[in-house]
Amino acid sequence: MKYISIHDGPGASGAQRIGCETFPDAATTMILRAAGCGDARPRTGFENCSFRAWIVDTSGVRGIIRLIVLAVIFAAVRSGTQAAVCQTRVRAWQGAVELAARETPQARIIVLDIASDRLLAATDLKDAARTLAAPGSTLKPLVLYGLVSAGRWNPASRVACNRQLAVAGHRLTCTHPLAPPFNAREALTWSCNSYFAAVARTLRPEELEQLLRPTGLLESTGLVGLTGLAHDEAVAEFREPETVDAEQLALLGVEGVRVTPLELGVAYRWLAREMAAHPDSDATQVVRAGLEDSASFGMAGQASLGGVAVMGKTGTAAGIALSQSHGWFAGIAPAEKPKVVIVVYLPAGRGADAAHVAGEILADAPLEKP
Ligand SMILES: [Zn+2]
Repeated sequence: MKYISIHDGPGASGAQRIGCETFPDAATTMILRAAGCGDARPRTGFENCSFRAWIVDTSGVRGIIRLIVLAVIFAAVRSGTQAAVCQTRVRAWQGAVELAARETPQARIIVLDIASDRLLAATDLKDAARTLAAPGSTLKPLVLYGLVSAGRWNPASRVACNRQLAVAGHRLTCTHPLAPPFNAREALTWSCNSYFAAVARTLRPEELEQLLRPTGLLESTGLVGLTGLAHDEAVAEFREPETVDAEQLALLGVEGVRVTPLELGVAYRWLAREMAAHPDSDATQVVRAGLEDSASFGMAGQASLGGVAVMGKTGTAAGIALSQSHGWFAGIAPAEKPKVVIVVYLPAGRGADAAHVAGEILADAPLEKP
């Protein structure tokens, strides 16, 4: 739109001289808004005028409107396509989870999208949100990440293990093969209790809580944090360790801490996001490598039987009754480009059993397989 003076024109066809500019007659429809004329009629083609006027090139306006409409349509189609893709993905994950749950109906399974805060799939979500259980070795990568990030633990440090460990009456025998002293990566791969008990003995009072707090397992109050992913959630229990033995048992996820499967999923989502944000840090390098090895040939090896490379950790701990163990698997997949967090909790079983369930889920999951 411009404000110009129209003086004259050569005729009803051809180019017209309008002020000092020339417009092709056939392509231009003008609305003259002139104080002198007092009208705003659409005028097509040449008109002999001599006054200053607002000129609206309606062909241009129509073009803009057309572009806006196309943009709106494109956005709507794109949004609709994204919604459809998203729904398809959710259905595919739910299908994979339900298929695995047919084989192991007691499993509580959670699949979280890492990029968003969405829950992609679950079995018995109500129970997964209310069940509190000792997390076992699933805490090891979370604590190791925090300690190495803070420069409080050198991941090259080696600790010898004879596989026999007892703390305050708890037998915490390692199940890995006999091996030379482990560094942090190897200790994570083989879930070595002796190594992480040695780590725990270096912790200061309240340090474990400080390490776990940002994972979402604990809020700054020291009480529990709601994930917001389910109604009527239970919150994690954490008892501040007051002795060296209690510190070891808490870090090994045996005593003094209980979490829900949903909370553990949120904690591993935090870990996945941290590692993505700091890909070259020592903490990411050692935890990523340890979790990849664990789910490849280590304690969580069965998780990779589905054909998807995954980072994962198992956990086995006794219940309150101590009469039976429960099993955990917490994983991040695919290992190369993490998209989801999978948590499997078995009320009766071991970590390796839970890793096996995760492998079955990943076999049918909507993820690219090499
Ligand atoms: Zn060991």
